[in-house]
Amino acid sequence: MGLLSAFALRGGFAGLDPLAGIPGTLGGALVMNAGAFGRTLGDLVEEVEVLVDGKVEVLRGVEVDWGYRTSSLKGSTVVGATLKLVPGDGGKIREDMVRFARLRRQKQPLDFPSAGSVFKNPPGHSAGRLIDEAGLKGARVGDAMVSPLHANFIVNLGQARARDVRLLVEVVKERVRERFSISLEEEIVYAGVFEFGEDEDCAAAGGAFL
Ligand SMILES: Cc1cc2nc3c(=O)[nH]c(=O)nc-3n(C[C@H](O)[C@H](O)[C@H](O)COP(=O)(O)OP(=O)(O)OC[C@H]3O[C@@H](n4cnc5c(N)ncnc54)[C@H](O)[C@@H]3O)c2cc1C
Repeated sequence: MGLLSAFALRGGFAGLDPLAGIPGTLGGALVMNAGAFGRTLGDLVEEVEVLVDGKVEVLRGVEVDWGYRTSSLKGSTVVGATLKLVPGDGGKIREDMVRFARLRRQKQPLDFPSAGSVFKNPPGHSAGRLIDEAGLKGARVGDAMVSPLHANFIVNLGQARARDVRLLVEVVKERVRERFSISLEEEIVYAGVFEFGEDEDCAAAGGAFL
């Protein structure tokens, strides 16, 4: 996404500016319908190319269901896309990209590895605020920690394993459910199989908080 945004900037095309700082590939961003600062990638899609039985098929943007950090492209193989960008003033586009990047640096714990926002915002709520108000900023399982800067980020302080993050996610969900009767839903996508007796290990993880 960074390369694509730089390409758009060089060509003087506006539209991607709020999305420029989202890490990852165009394919991942399309499947996740990545978004930031009120803009989602799905808003900009004219066409998407997907691989079906070894052949490239073209879908129009309006044929895709774009959801909140999800899309009907999930499960397919995206190999290309055409985006609707608009000609703009290069100086203004650069200025906007710098402004959005600065906001990201202020609000997100970018000094540590993370997977970005862990949970979707429940309707009418901010996941980060709920986690903060449940007293979970700084909560840890091993080296996985709920960021003190932005409670919807789990950062790796050094040696965290996927299992530590997975456990911390369960603890956060449980605490927020207990406190607010709201079920948080993950925005992150898990890879692999996590084998643990959730009740038992979550209780243990609760005891490991700083
Ligand atoms: C610090 C940080 C900040 C972030 N900020 C944001 C943000 O502001 N907004 C936001 O929306 N996200 C944000 N994210 C999350 C992440 O960057 C996005 O979800 C991104 O779009 C994922 O792209 P990726 O290429 O890494 O995909 P992956 O994470 O590798 O994959 C995501 C999903 O897409 C599928 N997929 C990937 N490529 C393809 C393809 N070509 N065809 C079919 N399926 C595919 C994968 O199988 C998986 O299910 C942030 C992450 C971090 C670490």
